[in-house]
Amino acid sequence: MLAVEQLTTRYGSLTALHQATLRVDEGELITLVGPNGAGKTTLLTSIAGLLRPAEGRVVFEGRDVTGWDPARLVRAGLALVPERRRIFKDLTVAENLKLAGVTASAADRRDRLARLPEVFPILRDRWTTAAGFLSGGEAQQLAVARALMSDPRLLLLDEPCLGLAPTMVDVVFDLLADLRREGRTILVVEQQARRALSIADRAYVLRTGRIVAEGPAAELAQRSDLFEAYVGGGQS
Ligand code: ATP
Repeated sequence: MLAVEQLTTRYGSLTALHQATLRVDEGELITLVGPNGAGKTTLLTSIAGLLRPAEGRVVFEGRDVTGWDPARLVRAGLALVPERRRIFKDLTVAENLKLAGVTASAADRRDRLARLPEVFPILRDRWTTAAGFLSGGEAQQLAVARALMSDPRLLLLDEPCLGLAPTMVDVVFDLLADLRREGRTILVVEQQARRALSIADRAYVLRTGRIVAEGPAAELAQRSDLFEAYVGGGQS
């Protein structure tokens, strides 16, 4: 479904991503793990059209989408939940969702607005609450729900558990596992490597801008050498 080929991204003279290659097949949950500053966000935002890679290609469902702007990618079926949840704090939960559905037809938007509260019961209870009053976990669910308003075939998530209390981390991981069971295809960036590996099909480990390991999540989880060296035992 997604093929990232030899992607290199630079910030001025700093090369943050060196020839990264990865693939996500339909129905897979893939996790991309690595320490702070490894280039995880750079890779995800390069895929989602927020950064323009200097070299390499992003191929989505057989089409070369390198350099497409994010709105066009959303219409093509690829949605990003950015790091630190970009939601509109002064708008209600319902308004946030309606705005996120602007790329859909009116009928699809109505349909999704009706179905999302079944997936996120917490949001149903907070439907008319301003998003700024949501807890961290609720806000994260709203961020994921916003992305689902475009009914993406591929969902990219950047550190969805960042800053959440442990119980809310459980909620978000359960949600990801549920979405995968529903057949969504997911690429999630996560610092909590072991946790992410426990729900993922396959994983990629990124370090200083390079993919240094990849494979089935269960196999990579056995590689304690890798995680002590690359991710840090404490965070995993
Ligand atoms: P974290 O887990 O801390 O979010 P990350 O793995 O997502 O880290 P990136 O945010 O992609 O890493 O950063 C990769 C490298 O690029 C780092 O060295 C970072 O300092 C640098 N970098 C990131 N954004 C910019 C920017 N806008 N301008 C210049 N350098 C940047």
